[in-house]
Amino acid sequence: MNVEQIYKDSSALLEGHFKLSSGNHSGFYLQSAKVLEDPKTAKLLAEALAAQIKASGIQVDAVCSPALGGLIAGFALATALDVRFIFAERVDGQMTIRRGFEVQKGEKYIICEDIITTGGSALEAANQVEADGGVIAGYAALANRGFCTRNGCSTDPKVNCKLPRNLPLFALEDFTFEMYTPEECPLCKAGSVAYKPGSRGN
Ligand code: ZN
Repeated sequence: MNVEQIYKDSSALLEGHFKLSSGNHSGFYLQSAKVLEDPKTAKLLAEALAAQIKASGIQVDAVCSPALGGLIAGFALATALDVRFIFAERVDGQMTIRRGFEVQKGEKYIICEDIITTGGSALEAANQVEADGGVIAGYAALANRGFCTRNGCSTDPKVNCKLPRNLPLFALEDFTFEMYTPEECPLCKAGSVAYKPGSRGN
């Protein structure tokens, strides 16, 4: 499966000059919601991710995603694994599990995102699952931005990876892009202006 091509075909991998939420600039941008716009593609990707998880032999009882970004990927993954799906959401900045979702004591969870960057939201969702008595079996994402190490790869995680090193991160592809501070950005030096995807109503 050529995940990068699927992202390109879905206009989920953009090329240009982008201002990232960190403030850095990049020539590439991942708009993962776009790759999930077609339910058939979402199903295909989630089944590939589920196959990786099943092949690892870990037991999974449920999937939990941090809202909003992880919801579609997590639901599709839970469908492919044939397990329950719950989500965590921010209330006044604090990640919480509400809406009547009940985490059973000892239940094994995969925390699923669409993209793992540093894994901050995924870790917050995991902490809530654990606080309610659940056990984290691993993390999963369609795309990994290269800060954390995905299962089966030998590269060291970057210092800003927030995910625990002792649990697997399952992901379909690494999307590692060069990032620049605005002062050092070669695209800025070439005279173009960075824009933040989403700020033009897209
Ligand atoms: Zn720039």
